[in-house]
Amino acid sequence: MSNTIESRCGILCGECEYRESMGCKGCTNIDNPFWGECPVKASCESKGHEHCGQCAEFPCKQLNDFAYDKEEGDDGKRLEQCRKWAGL
Ligand code: SF4
Ligand code: SF4
Repeated sequence: MSNTIESRCGILCGECEYRESMGCKGCTNIDNPFWGECPVKASCESKGHEHCGQCAEFPCKQLNDFAYDKEEGDDGKRLEQCRKWAGL
């Protein structure tokens, strides 16, 4: 398992179906995603963290809601990824 950080929230951008079609450089290489401003990315970067797993509030309600959202969520997979990156 690679320890390279791919996103703030734990999504693996390399596995994202929109990466190629939208020409996205990945969460850590852009100011804002193609769909607008991401509150998780903004929160994480404002605290100076590389990813949410480094945050004392992890997993906060906002991140948890994202991870378990019925349409956009991934059943918490991204939270597990943050834990791996943090060595938890
Ligand atoms: S949801 Fe936000 S924090 Fe997560 S990969 Fe997308 S832009 Fe980054
Ligand atoms: S876990 Fe929540 S509060 Fe902490 S950086 Fe991520 S989005 Fe922000």
